[in-house]
Amino acid sequence: MTRQFFVGGNFKMNPASRDAKRALIKTLNDASLDPNTEVIIAPPALYLIPILDLLRKDVKVAAQNCHSKTSGAFTGETSPTQLVDAGVPYVILGHSERRTLFGETSAIVAEKTRAALDAGLRVILCVGETLAEREVGRTQQVVEEQLQVVVARLSPEDWSRIVIAYEPVWAIGTGKVATAAQAQEVHANTRKYLVSAVSSAVAESTRIIYGGSVTAANCKELSASTFDSKGFQELNGHVGTQADVDGFLVGGASLKPEFVNIVNSKA
Ligand code: PGA
Repeated sequence: MTRQFFVGGNFKMNPASRDAKRALIKTLNDASLDPNTEVIIAPPALYLIPILDLLRKDVKVAAQNCHSKTSGAFTGETSPTQLVDAGVPYVILGHSERRTLFGETSAIVAEKTRAALDAGLRVILCVGETLAEREVGRTQQVVEEQLQVVVARLSPEDWSRIVIAYEPVWAIGTGKVATAAQAQEVHANTRKYLVSAVSSAVAESTRIIYGGSVTAANCKELSASTFDSKGFQELNGHVGTQADVDGFLVGGASLKPEFVNIVNSKA
């Protein structure tokens, strides 16, 4: 099965003005984008609706967060139902900034994921280890613990609306990108985990994208199909050539014209 390459731009709490926002959208609208890549941008909630109107229709929009309830007394929050009603198809959940700065536990992320899927959204589900966890060899354990809580709340059919974003915390916004081999290793092991935790079909079809200091300069190497999904292939008794890095979640570089180069990294 071929997994469609996926590139998401996470604007975070940027840009700082509506003029800058319009300029960013104009760059994307005027660009020549690889038609074989699924492209998503995640602007601040305030800009979601105007951007839906301004943006070319082959680029989709994602929210950066949502609540788990449909409506109610939750000051400052946006519900998944409201996002669907506004025409927003995707939401990013479990980003490390939400986990560390806003106290979101894996249980909260799982609750939100369930609610988002129930409302009809697709989810970009972020997982990843800290530097301290990597240094003591706990990377895969952390990723699987973060996923396990979500796996427990999902049925196999739900996975067609999930994209997993592997984002090592030490690589986010630091300029310290994972090597292609480091990314591939975690992606392959995560796919292997999905075989046992969900099913081979879900493991093979679920896109696992990488995030953390992706730029135009490193995206080609990170996405090159030079590493095989060894664990997954051994488990399935066949040898293929499909690498396990199915795209990127881009922060800082999504605010620059080079985002177009990252979208086109497979072209
Ligand atoms: P970065 O952020 O590309 O600026 O490292 C990635 C992310 O947080 O999704």
